[in-house]
Amino acid sequence: MTTTTTTTTASTPTLDEFGAEVTAFLDAAAERRPERREFAWGEGDDSVSMFEEVDPADERRGLAEAKVWRAKRFDAGLGYISGDPAYGGRGLPAAYDRLYASLESRYDVPSQSFFGIGLGMVAPTIKDHAQPDIKARYLPAMYRGDVVGCQLFSEPGAGSDLAGLQTRAERDGDEWVVSGQKVWTSGAQYSDIGEVICRTDPDMPKHQGLTGFIVDMRAPGVDVRPLRQMTGGASFNEVFFNEVRVPDDHRLGDVNQGWSVALTTLMNERASIGAGGAGGGLGVADITRLSQMLAHFGGSDDPTLRDQLMRLYTGFQVAKFTNQRALDKIRAGQLPGPEMSIAKLSLTRNLTDTGQFVARVLGPRLTADTGEWGTFAWSRFLCGTPGMRIAGGSDEVLHNIIGERVLGLPKEPGIDTTSPFKDLLKN
Ligand SMILES: Cc1cc2nc3c(=O)[nH]c(=O)nc-3n(C[C@H](O)[C@H](O)[C@H](O)COP(=O)(O)OP(=O)(O)OC[C@H]3O[C@@H](n4cnc5c(N)ncnc54)[C@H](O)[C@@H]3O)c2cc1C
Repeated sequence: MTTTTTTTTASTPTLDEFGAEVTAFLDAAAERRPERREFAWGEGDDSVSMFEEVDPADERRGLAEAKVWRAKRFDAGLGYISGDPAYGGRGLPAAYDRLYASLESRYDVPSQSFFGIGLGMVAPTIKDHAQPDIKARYLPAMYRGDVVGCQLFSEPGAGSDLAGLQTRAERDGDEWVVSGQKVWTSGAQYSDIGEVICRTDPDMPKHQGLTGFIVDMRAPGVDVRPLRQMTGGASFNEVFFNEVRVPDDHRLGDVNQGWSVALTTLMNERASIGAGGAGGGLGVADITRLSQMLAHFGGSDDPTLRDQLMRLYTGFQVAKFTNQRALDKIRAGQLPGPEMSIAKLSLTRNLTDTGQFVARVLGPRLTADTGEWGTFAWSRFLCGTPGMRIAGGSDEVLHNIIGERVLGLPKEPGIDTTSPFKDLLKN
């Protein structure tokens, strides 16, 4: 395992001092979680959803609580621990972030999932590509939880082939006028700003005529419409832009250099999926729960089910260590290689295999809600896992990446990187 050393200066607290400061803050501001009890079949919450799916009123309440907590953290100097002091950060090494996260996990604090995309992907892109005034305006506000961000990349005709996007931005004096449609925008319904990639020059090849912007999600002409999923929830949206005016100072990077802006965001997306445990554990759907399920429904003597369970266990372990390798590389300041793609693929394979195992053990209990603990609840898991095979790079696209960049197989034919975008066939 790679280890990193932290260089501290006289004004930098040691990790021990910082840990004491964090514990004092948490003790004063939150309740400690009760010690985690061993999982026991039939006890506690049986929810195993892939996505948090709550009704709009609960979502509003959850967001308000999440913001209050984020503001408390920020005001105590613990909201942007490794950030640049010029933008409200504390300027400490990343190890201090990890220490904070591990200490906070012992306390009962409101879910911070609302900030995942904004802080995991949009804020790092603002940090790397926005103009200083815009960094000063948004970075502290985002880390304080006052401003929530979303990612507006995918379109009906541009998902895996992101560079094929057609939302236009046309210059009009000091402003840009944005028109087009985005889709699958997670959290757009409660976001204040969005990172949008637009086509600014259709005469250039498709990867070259793109520009990134920060758009006000409440500006006139922005229309957010929820998309209902097969799980019953609506975590995603279609977002329509109808001549939305965006000031030029909200541009990310140079005009027509939006592809490198998008790559910054996508790199951070992979890293945040990794940090969230992609390919490692499965959260609530862990091996203890699965083996107790097998025992409860009398399948422990079935050799094929036992074999399936052991294969799952092996898959979880291999994914966990592959994921750890990738995260250790990031922490050591190196770029992760194929580990991220392999970890993402392992995650989706493990999720799919878990669903198949559960379906075999539960049989019809999975589809009829009889109220029996730990049965119908799994239907949300099974309906949610296909989405994980698509989000953050689909299985097939990741196979292509591994084939081309790791195994050295020939590149996919037919990608035109020289003709003007306007002359290409559109999806
Ligand atoms: C849970 C979830 C959350 C999301 N959140 C967001 C968000 O917040 N913001 C956002 O902008 N987008 C978001 N997305 C959209 C996501 O980025 C896209 O769904 C993804 O890029 C795939 O694009 P697509 O759906 O258009 O499918 P397509 O790209 O059209 O792919 C359709 C099928 O073709 C396959 N395919 C495509 N290209 C190739 C190829 N070259 N070789 C082999 N097979 C190929 C794919 O694997 C897939 O099976 C989210 C999606 C999900 C599922």
